[in-house]
Amino acid sequence: MIVDVERRVAVESVIKACNLCRTVQSAHVAGGVIGKEDGSPVTVADFGAQAVVSAHLMAAFPNLPLVGEEDSKLLRRKDNATLKQAVMKYAQGISPHLSDSQVLEAIDRGAADGGPQGRFWTLDPIDGTKGFLRGDQYAVALALIENGRVVLGVLGCPNLPLNPAQPEGPRGALFVGARGQGAGLMSLDERAERKIRVTDIEDPAQAVFCESFESDHSSHDDSLRVAKLLGTKHPPVRMDSQAKYGVLAKGDAAIYLRIPTEKSYTELIWDHAAGAMIVEEAGGVVTDIHGKPLDFSAGKRLSRNHGVIASNGKFHGRIVEAVNSVIGTHRTRD
Ligand code: AMP
Ligand code: MG
Repeated sequence: MIVDVERRVAVESVIKACNLCRTVQSAHVAGGVIGKEDGSPVTVADFGAQAVVSAHLMAAFPNLPLVGEEDSKLLRRKDNATLKQAVMKYAQGISPHLSDSQVLEAIDRGAADGGPQGRFWTLDPIDGTKGFLRGDQYAVALALIENGRVVLGVLGCPNLPLNPAQPEGPRGALFVGARGQGAGLMSLDERAERKIRVTDIEDPAQAVFCESFESDHSSHDDSLRVAKLLGTKHPPVRMDSQAKYGVLAKGDAAIYLRIPTEKSYTELIWDHAAGAMIVEEAGGVVTDIHGKPLDFSAGKRLSRNHGVIASNGKFHGRIVEAVNSVIGTHRTRD
């Protein structure tokens, strides 16, 4: 059960992280990238955002574990002193009461493993790091999971245009979904919340579908085949991060496809928990590519699922069928 206090604290902490990301981006520190062991880029803002969110959550809920994407191992290395200094500057710019060691400690509080029991937060401090570095879409994604089910999702999208018809207009959206309470959207700057719903179109030919910008995160070739089978007329909307779930929840797209590019890849819970809750509370449906609900009880990864299909729910079964028929052809071809 979600009570107002969790919702309020989660929203406040995501807004703090979004402000940090905006400051870092406008100061062009986004160029200060170092390679993580897995090769993905990680920035000052990734660490800073995890520090401010974690510290804020810790102050309000000292006993709730956090499953976060980052840890401070790299920051503690002597050869990364400049990066550490920058992280401190931006984190303390947002949360001035934190000492250097408290910033590192807050980042490392994200080391929990998740699992089927109890309550825990999960955080992607910057989802879509590549989008952040390109100046495109990225999101701060925070969710609360209770006994394996997501109960609250908060998604900050600092670069998302508020009106898709005005891509150069005001940007910065914050989505909230709380189980049983619907989904809402507010501007990051004005914070007046309005309820959102998925689109009610029933004909897949009219559907706008979105997918990852990065073709190694979701197969662009397969999604085009799926779109053809469904008769979809619009070109795909490609964007980074869980902003895709937000766009679906507010009715600007009807389908989000994430078709695996490698058989062995399993999705991470922080890449989907917040977005999936928001879409479901906006009236949509989220499953894996086989039509199975996402299972957030298996630890850090959605190891019992494969890929993701999210939609407005009006023709979800047809999308699942189309995806499986495309993947089936694939297998025979391979
Ligand atoms: P997106 O912005 O939708 O492209 O998704 C970004 C997320 O994709 C990152 O946070 C990664 O955790 C995740 N990711 C990394 N490699 C893969 C992969 N091979 N397949 C699917 N997702 C991936
Ligand atoms: Mg991510």
